[in-house]
Amino acid sequence: MIGMEQQHELRIAVYPGSFDPVTKGHMDIIQRASRQFDRLIVAVLNNSSKNPLFTVEERKELIRGATQHLPNVEIDSYRDLLVNYMDYRQAHVIVRGIRTVTDFEYELQLASTNHKLNSEVETIFMMTNPKYSYLSSSIVKEIASFQGDVSDLVPRIVEAALKNKYSK
Ligand code: ADP
Repeated sequence: MIGMEQQHELRIAVYPGSFDPVTKGHMDIIQRASRQFDRLIVAVLNNSSKNPLFTVEERKELIRGATQHLPNVEIDSYRDLLVNYMDYRQAHVIVRGIRTVTDFEYELQLASTNHKLNSEVETIFMMTNPKYSYLSSSIVKEIASFQGDVSDLVPRIVEAALKNKYSK
């Protein structure tokens, strides 16, 4: 018998982003992408030049809390070039969400750059659910800062964390 022992290569994808904080738009992509791969790593970019509301650890905790029902989703962070992080995690696919035509231009530039840096890395785009096409972490923060209702926009755990941040 030939080939019976052939090792099946795990299909690992990385969904990178700032996730400051994770929204229902991100959750939609996470849920759908997790069904397409053996493992999905949601990777929070540790970018010191941005001025985030939540620390990287807080953002990871929030995503972890919101994805407990998805056993093949792992939460991590990175501060390296994405292609180097992909190498380190032995992942070949980058997942990104596309909301609008404006997203597309930027994402195309990003994907082409990553492909140039490592041609083995493939970027896969998922179209956002139209319900969430207007939704961004910045809009959520704007609304929450004025004590507006964000319950339709973010997971419950994030809603509570936002209330806590903005009540201080
Ligand atoms: P970044 O700073 O890398 O853009 P974000 O956390 O804003 O990080 O977004 C991470 C990824 O999720 C990006 O691919 C972005 O296009 C996608 N995304 C953001 N908001 C939504 C949404 N409402 N629906 C679907 N995808 C989204």
